[in-house]
Amino acid sequence: MPLFLFRAIAEVRAAVRGCGRVGFVPTMGALHAGHLSLMRAARAENDFVVASIFVNPRQFGPHEDFEKYPRPLARDRDLCATVPIDALFAPTVEEMYPPGYATTVSVAGLQDTLCGRSRPGHFDGVTTVVAKLFHVVGPCAAYFGQKDAQQATIIARMVADQCFPVTVRVMPIVREADGLAMSSRNVYLTPAERAAAPVLRRALLAGAALAREGERSSETICRAVRGVIESSETARIDYVQLVNVDTLREAPSIERKALLAVAARFGATRLIDNACLSPGAGEVPYDA
Ligand code: AMP
Repeated sequence: MPLFLFRAIAEVRAAVRGCGRVGFVPTMGALHAGHLSLMRAARAENDFVVASIFVNPRQFGPHEDFEKYPRPLARDRDLCATVPIDALFAPTVEEMYPPGYATTVSVAGLQDTLCGRSRPGHFDGVTTVVAKLFHVVGPCAAYFGQKDAQQATIIARMVADQCFPVTVRVMPIVREADGLAMSSRNVYLTPAERAAAPVLRRALLAGAALAREGERSSETICRAVRGVIESSETARIDYVQLVNVDTLREAPSIERKALLAVAARFGATRLIDNACLSPGAGEVPYDA
């Protein structure tokens, strides 16, 4: 079956009609093994798989990297064909936000913590575009990465609150051999920054080791995590927080499970990573 590349909303709507269970993977392109793992999961669980590639201007701040964000569409299309998926939707900005477009979708309370603090408006941009993409694709299972755990929590909230006919699936973080979480933004790192970046994973593992030993205190775990990141001269911490997975509120201690989330700058590049922790078990799957 050929891989269709669609530019128009109407084409996607026509393609999914009558195709059985639809799996949907929204991305911004510059695909890597993390994105492909979402597509493979969608392939395994559905009859028809659609991915989207859209560098969404509304989720970039005025001083962020919208213009320079990589857009290797031909290469991305070839990678999608290896999965294989059935359709790739790569709309223009005008197709998604035609003149007169005026609607924002906003999930209150969850978008102003963690990454939302240093990226005001970012998650409103994400929910606005993902809501529209869900309306384009229709009933589906939608695949997101735990890498962007706050995004996954916010979208799951939006889907529940608004009765979208969508099942949200959150898949594990895919990493480089040295532990760095794969990200389209890793290409911005200088060799020295790239060499330093795995400190985030080492810090999360230090937190997970404490949890495995039975430690529940957020203060103790976050102090250890900070200590590891601060051992790098290159990393500058944005936040280290232990939060409830569903509410994203700070968890003073881990009850059954909590999300340990970190963000740090390496030069001009901001990287994020996270792990779900459970006392006695250490690191556990996001949806366990
Ligand atoms: P992006 O293209 O960065 O917007 O990401 C598209 C989707 O891929 C999101 O659901 C991300 O969470 C997911 N994703 C990004 N990096 C990874 C990774 N290293 N492992 C798993 N999923 C990822």
